[in-house]
Amino acid sequence: MRNLIDKLAEKNNLSDEELKYLIENISDEDLDYLNKTARKKADEIYGKKVFVRGLIEFTNYCKNNCYYCGIRAENKNAERYRLCEEEILNCCKQGYELGFRTFVLQGGEDMYYSDDMICDIVKKIHKEYPDCAITLSIGERDENAYKRFFDAGAARFLLRHETADKEHYSKLHPDNMSFENRMKCLETLKKIGYQTGCGFMVGSPYQTTDCLVKDLRFIKNFEPAMVGIGPYLSHKHTPFCDKENGSVRLTLMLLSIIRLMLPEVLLPATTALGTAKSDGREKGILAGANVVMPNLSPVSVRKKYSLYDNKICTGEESAQCKFCLSNRMKSIGYEVVTSRGDNIKFVKGDK
Ligand code: SAH
Repeated sequence: MRNLIDKLAEKNNLSDEELKYLIENISDEDLDYLNKTARKKADEIYGKKVFVRGLIEFTNYCKNNCYYCGIRAENKNAERYRLCEEEILNCCKQGYELGFRTFVLQGGEDMYYSDDMICDIVKKIHKEYPDCAITLSIGERDENAYKRFFDAGAARFLLRHETADKEHYSKLHPDNMSFENRMKCLETLKKIGYQTGCGFMVGSPYQTTDCLVKDLRFIKNFEPAMVGIGPYLSHKHTPFCDKENGSVRLTLMLLSIIRLMLPEVLLPATTALGTAKSDGREKGILAGANVVMPNLSPVSVRKKYSLYDNKICTGEESAQCKFCLSNRMKSIGYEVVTSRGDNIKFVKGDK
């Protein structure tokens, strides 16, 4: 097993069979070795630094009905909210004062925000904070819209592929959602010039090791600037309410494998990981992650952006969140840095 881990570190790749063998057979001791090897790789490239992104969850309205997600359209229990432009800009202002230089605008697929509105919001943030990177995470739109958002000043886009296995995709989503379209969106985003992020949930219902191998192969070939992964966590008002949560152990294993397959990739230790285990994000960093995404949303709406049950950080003000995360990183010997934190392979002008 150690040979395999060393080979992965050296070649930044393994065959599908080797990946499958590693995932299914690694012992706790060898997993520790894998995590340390991945952390060493991240240290070599990014040092003892962790990038922060300020996350603004601006709407929990969604037209989709993903079986796993708490803000799905058919969840009548979800209390819906939308932030107006002024509220979004206020979040940015607070974030800027706290030192954030990346803002991530995330939401359900909410067509209330027309392409024009998103462009306006992006333009205003870009004008006010030209030294900041703007990331969108608003789901699937058409090529023209993606192009307009990019021209308005959004440099990055996060769109998790969710699973690279078509059949698995159809077990997580209703028939009106298309695996091909999601994958096509990712290609389009990359073609337009975004620093693009993909990703998936670990331990989502019906996921097999073969699905994970496909995810890893897709990620390796796609060469995203960012990869977002976190454990699947169930939400009580979804069709998957009785499904088991994804495992922290497997998430840490996959974070390390992804770090070694794409050494420069930006890899967040996600809120889901911190929810699944109280020191999950610290463990994520020690397994090779190098990004954290504290919440900048107004405290009044945080509980409502409920993708899964028991989400952490829903009670604190943004300043507290940043302070808490900085301390958590310090406790493991890492320093939070507030620069834009571009993927060093994808630095694009001053956008
Ligand atoms: N509407 C946007 C943003 C979705 S929310 C989009 O389509 O990209 C961001 C991510 O949260 C999703 O891509 C999904 O991978 C994750 N997520 C949703 N429900 C979850 C759950 N129950 N447990 C863990 N992660 C979840």
